[in-house]
Amino acid sequence: MRRVSIFGATGSIGQSTIDLIARDRDAFNVVALTGGQNIALLATDAIRLGADLAVTAQEALYSELKAALSGTGIEAAAGAAALAEAAARPADWVMSAIVGAAGLAPGMTALEQGSTLALANKESLVTAGPLLMRTAAVHGATVLPVDSEHSAVFQALVGEDMAAVERIVITASGGAFRDWPLEKLADATVEQASRHPNWDMGQRITIDSASMFNKAMEVIETHEYFGVAPEMIEVLVHPESLVHALVGFRDGALMAHLGVSDMRHAIGYALNWPDRDHLPVARLDLAQIGQLNFRAPDQARYPALRLARAVMARGGLSGAVFNAAKEQALDAFIEKRLKFIDMAGVVEDTLTRCEAEKGLIDAEMTLDNVARADQMARIRAAEIIAAAR
Ligand code: NAD
Ligand code: MG
Repeated sequence: MRRVSIFGATGSIGQSTIDLIARDRDAFNVVALTGGQNIALLATDAIRLGADLAVTAQEALYSELKAALSGTGIEAAAGAAALAEAAARPADWVMSAIVGAAGLAPGMTALEQGSTLALANKESLVTAGPLLMRTAAVHGATVLPVDSEHSAVFQALVGEDMAAVERIVITASGGAFRDWPLEKLADATVEQASRHPNWDMGQRITIDSASMFNKAMEVIETHEYFGVAPEMIEVLVHPESLVHALVGFRDGALMAHLGVSDMRHAIGYALNWPDRDHLPVARLDLAQIGQLNFRAPDQARYPALRLARAVMARGGLSGAVFNAAKEQALDAFIEKRLKFIDMAGVVEDTLTRCEAEKGLIDAEMTLDNVARADQMARIRAAEIIAAAR
């Protein structure tokens, strides 16, 4: 039996992971499930999967969780320390599916135990890619990409020599506003940005898809995870979201990965790796689909892509600043304190201001310094957002 833990079990990726694990109950021993506010769902899944431990990140919800699990023999815990403790429990395979910068520390702890980390939390590689990859190497742990694009690249690279790779192309649906006239974007609402044309995901990543901050993060992730130079990474708009990524080799060949937009493929690949097993995802009928479309991303529509290039060129802790500023801008947009089109400006100005904070971006990449850059960026971003009103 494989010991598995799921961080962010109540979210979109967490639930897809549980769907796969629940289909093969006898193969897994569920160690820990973590969640946030949705205590009912966390408790139901912990009971259904026979988990050892359930943790809510919300300290105030401890008694609710404890009550929901009373008499089941499942341990209940709450708060940041409990989350860290859950991450330190030995497990063979861990799903990192917390949203935001909060996902980094538990993932690092799992790697320190030598666990295989299925990485959906993209903020980990964006804020601390070199630290995460080094930690995995030091502890002989494996990081498997769970984003659809990175799983696609990973699969296209099986058996290949990285030295033969010329370019990596990741596709983007273009998000909710890809066909809107640019002038209209100023009035884009949260409700409109929260409807993805192809994927059913958490609200934050869906809005990030509309702004392409999601793709910007994925470009940085590609750079960090596969260790390829920024200029080798391309973004291609592909409205159907059926080709997830392509790898170009020095002989001109392009290996593409296709599949339906169902995250259970990338999750299942990471769960079964290095093998492939049957997965309950729909099969593509290309004859019925008929045609696939591609176009270059419009740089004016998606300023986030330019910011990703700036972050990769700058290096150091600029990814932590970029991510924290983006999270603040996204919060402000969701709370209707900031316009959709002003999010990129907030991130850009935050990067500029943090550059002026002596020693912030060039500090050694440790969890503490990443947290410090994150906090400073949040303060600066909040000031910029307040001044813009
Ligand atoms: P979600 O919002 O649906 O779920 C997030 C989970 O994290 C929930 O369980 C929530 O309780 C928990 N959480 C939130 N804030 C927390 C905190 N501060 N501390 C501890 N736990 C917290 O998000 P999602 O769409 O499942 O995305 C999860 C991660 O996977 C994100 O980093 C996202 O970018 C990435 N990702 C998601 C998809 C997708 O299809 N949804 C695809 C690729 C990558
Ligand atoms: Mg993706």
